[in-house]
Amino acid sequence: METKYIFVTGGVASSLGKGIISSSLARLLLSRGFRVTIQKFDPYINIDPGTLNPYEHGECYVTIDGHEADLDLGHYERFTNVNTTRANNITTGRIYQNVIDKERRGDYLGKTVQVVPHITDEIKRNVKLLGNTGNFDFVITEIGGTVGDIESLPFLESMRQLKWELGSNCICVHLTYVPFINAAKELKTKPTQHSVKQLQELGIQPDILVLRTEKDIPTAMRRKVALFCNVSPDAVIQSIDVPSIYQVPVNMHAQHLDEIILKKTNTPYEGEPNMSQWMKFIDMMNKAKDTVTIGLVGKYVELQDAYKSINESLFQAATYNNVKLVLKSFQSEKLNDNNVEETLKDMDGVLIAPGFGPRGTEGKFSAIKWCREHDVPTLGICLGMQCMVIEFARNVLGLEDANSTEMNPHTPYNVIDLMEEQKSISNMGGTMRLGAFDCVLKPDSLVAKAYGKTEISERHRHRFEFNEEFREQFEAAGMKCVGENPKTHLVEVVEIPSKKWFVGVQYHPEYGSTVLSPNPLFISFVKAAIENKKK
Ligand code: GLN
Repeated sequence: METKYIFVTGGVASSLGKGIISSSLARLLLSRGFRVTIQKFDPYINIDPGTLNPYEHGECYVTIDGHEADLDLGHYERFTNVNTTRANNITTGRIYQNVIDKERRGDYLGKTVQVVPHITDEIKRNVKLLGNTGNFDFVITEIGGTVGDIESLPFLESMRQLKWELGSNCICVHLTYVPFINAAKELKTKPTQHSVKQLQELGIQPDILVLRTEKDIPTAMRRKVALFCNVSPDAVIQSIDVPSIYQVPVNMHAQHLDEIILKKTNTPYEGEPNMSQWMKFIDMMNKAKDTVTIGLVGKYVELQDAYKSINESLFQAATYNNVKLVLKSFQSEKLNDNNVEETLKDMDGVLIAPGFGPRGTEGKFSAIKWCREHDVPTLGICLGMQCMVIEFARNVLGLEDANSTEMNPHTPYNVIDLMEEQKSISNMGGTMRLGAFDCVLKPDSLVAKAYGKTEISERHRHRFEFNEEFREQFEAAGMKCVGENPKTHLVEVVEIPSKKWFVGVQYHPEYGSTVLSPNPLFISFVKAAIENKKK
């Protein structure tokens, strides 16, 4: 079949969950046997979000091919179980960079280079890139930002042109917000009407409206929205707040979102989507009664989206272990040897978060020391793993002031040091060790047991690494290097076998954990935390 293009735009406010709606729609179409991918177009000028700090843009997600991506790509993968790549995340910066490169090469043959048609053509070329591979029946394109933003105009203009060129092979799903005004005790549709008007002024008629709401929107009100917005009444659906994002595909299907899309794009279909595996997960999620309490120690814990993939991986792992996740977050900066016991004593397991720079690392050392001495299941990820190594060096090996050269370039014991190939790099963007790398695990290790195999591939995002020179000293004292890269021999996993569950990984297992295929390391960690709780 010809590739169909579905655009997802947002109106009224940001943070309405376009990523979740796009992902849910993809889930439903995949469950009907279609081949689907989702891409995100972000209107900001950064080339990618790799240089944005979490206060700006939440977590930076990493694809297998080493692209530092918007966190929505994490949702896409968690819902679809399909890997994304660099091609799935485009920014204004990248569009302009491509156009400017072409201009410098002389590709435009002396023409004046303009937003229309040159920028819009480049956007359209990128929209169709994945579709043109022939690998997908549906390409869902989420446009970041909100309709009405100055910076999203070229994207919306490109979308208008594509709708015109592709006819029924291209449709627009517009997500808006219907606020409940408490003083009047009423839901209000005016903002939705205005945001649709704004789209129409740009020449775009949305085909489907998804209304985000905290309260049930009566049918009569939905009909009114349909009438005012030129949308068929069955294509005005609501997305009401639910306790878990994983419930959203089920709610969308209950209102026939998938069927409406298939009809509007003239796609032949029959029967119902096969959601049995997904429903099994929802069922486990709803049935779980016992709890497991995990402490997350990190620098950005006050930000809801800073550790998105870690939170979701823990949630998935808890669900597969038939328990409810209670996640307690602790700001590493506030932790020290005096308050750590009081803070962490009720945790069944502790996760030491990834990060950059010295802020909060001393608190991480206090947390790790306490967990190690009290044999609490502990998982260190990336900087978390590096902190485990440093803490061990200081407090077990007696190497005073041991550190990473990232935190202290003059440390006498550089147990974590800059990777050789990083030493000549000066640009910050896209230059870390990024993407999926193979790792070979020692057969008798805890991690090998967790994964059920000795050859794995996981994603990375770092510049520093375990310093090989100290390997023997660590191993002799009980911290084993149990995973390494088969080509470069970089140490990727450390563990202390004499402890119940004490593992540090240089890679990010959280990026590869999905609902249908949860990451085994998280499953094993949460299981250990549950066993720890019982004792
Ligand atoms: N800052 C550390 C490094 O660059 C760890 C990075 C991370 O935790 N993602 O190696």
